[in-house]
Amino acid sequence: MSLAPARIVRAPNGSGLAVEWRPRDDGGPARIEISAARLRAACPCAPCKESRGAGRANFSGEAHLDRVALVGRYGLSCAWSDGHATGIFEWEALDEIARG
Ligand SMILES: [Zn+2]
Repeated sequence: MSLAPARIVRAPNGSGLAVEWRPRDDGGPARIEISAARLRAACPCAPCKESRGAGRANFSGEAHLDRVALVGRYGLSCAWSDGHATGIFEWEALDEIARG
């Protein structure tokens, strides 16, 4: 089955993201809310991955979600208030976050 969400809504104040999937038969949640900070901490771009791989946090302080945009049919690009905007969350990555 496709992991593409049915609906993605950015909180108007940028505090986070609500993601909804169509009814699922794979045990995953149908809806989650992810805080902007949690999403930022999980940023899948190469420098962020490298930081986490080295055991360092990939950001500190606060980061609100300024913008989100679909990337083709496979993911979501996010821009945060700290200026970071290079991460693309593929549906698999969002699903992984949803499952905690
Ligand atoms: Zn990143």
